[in-house]
Amino acid sequence: MKAFISTVLGYDPEQKNIEGGILGVVKAYYGCVEAQGRGTLHCHMMVWLEGGLNPNEIKEKVVNGNEVEFRDRLLAFLDDTIMTCIPPDPGPEFDVPSSRHHPCSVRGVPMDLENEQLHMAEQKDLHNLAKQCQSHKHTKTCFKYWKGPPEPRECRFDLDSNHFCERSTMDSENGEICLRCLDGMVNDFNATMLAAVRCNMDIKFIGSGEAAKAILYYITDYITKSQLKTHVAFAALELAVKRLSEYHPEEDELTTRAKRLLQKCAYAMISHQELSAQQVCSYLMDYEDHFTSHSYKNLYWLSCENFIDKEDPSPECRRILKTVYSPALMMSLGRLTIALTLVTMTSQTQMMYMSTKWESLLTVLANS
Ligand SMILES: [Zn+2]
Repeated sequence: MKAFISTVLGYDPEQKNIEGGILGVVKAYYGCVEAQGRGTLHCHMMVWLEGGLNPNEIKEKVVNGNEVEFRDRLLAFLDDTIMTCIPPDPGPEFDVPSSRHHPCSVRGVPMDLENEQLHMAEQKDLHNLAKQCQSHKHTKTCFKYWKGPPEPRECRFDLDSNHFCERSTMDSENGEICLRCLDGMVNDFNATMLAAVRCNMDIKFIGSGEAAKAILYYITDYITKSQLKTHVAFAALELAVKRLSEYHPEEDELTTRAKRLLQKCAYAMISHQELSAQQVCSYLMDYEDHFTSHSYKNLYWLSCENFIDKEDPSPECRRILKTVYSPALMMSLGRLTIALTLVTMTSQTQMMYMSTKWESLLTVLANS
């Protein structure tokens, strides 16, 4: 990832590199590492480009300023950056490593080729890569949220062989950009990035309109997903189990039973948490779980929320939230409530303890 950032994105922390990388001059980036269902680690990254306009500015220029030349340049940049189909196969005579082995498992083209030979070999390699890594085939998971008729059966990755749009366009009334789509079953990619990282990738332009809103929501959701680090969670759980097993002579029957139930839940969480080999390796090797050009201050949301509420109380907004989450309230309702909440949360949210809510709940448990 670090090589990708410095070489492909051409990011210069000193901001002196005016040549930039494959997307232009990068002003900032933020990426976080995630494990997918099968455990494979992947990175979601936002990249801010120098001189990049925000959706409102783009709209202002094109809709109100009627800047046709700007619109055409922007669309040309996007078409140049984002590929939406498998590039043509230059022919069987070009033999590259990715023709004989899976393209992800080999390096690109031989280093000793020159000019036309090199160009054709790169074409062939890119064709192989795109075909293997970017072509989508619908599987059961594509439709796992489909509720059945009358709802249309749509792939949740929004890939459809009927999608086709020959040219990128921009709506002259609302400035919404509609990018061309030459093959509805191909995940958008950048040719240089694909050739460099040699694995499945996706690239989106965050411009304007509904598509941009959807992407912004998706990305923010990923970035703000506060992942409680696994070893931190285990340490907290272990402490909770220890505290729960302590015997207090003054406890009544109900409390003892509640504690035993909680203990069982905590044990189940420790023993049933699934970690992929990739995740384990990544933790052991001390690899980073996020990459960013900037540094941030932590915002402790719950404390912040409590502070605001204390300064300017608005009970009508907080009543519902409090019932579910506030550790203080749960404490006052007694331990059985905590136990019930824990059980419900465990079954309903499938190990959602990686969120801050669990962090505070575990603190309550550990202190109770
Ligand atoms: Zn699909």
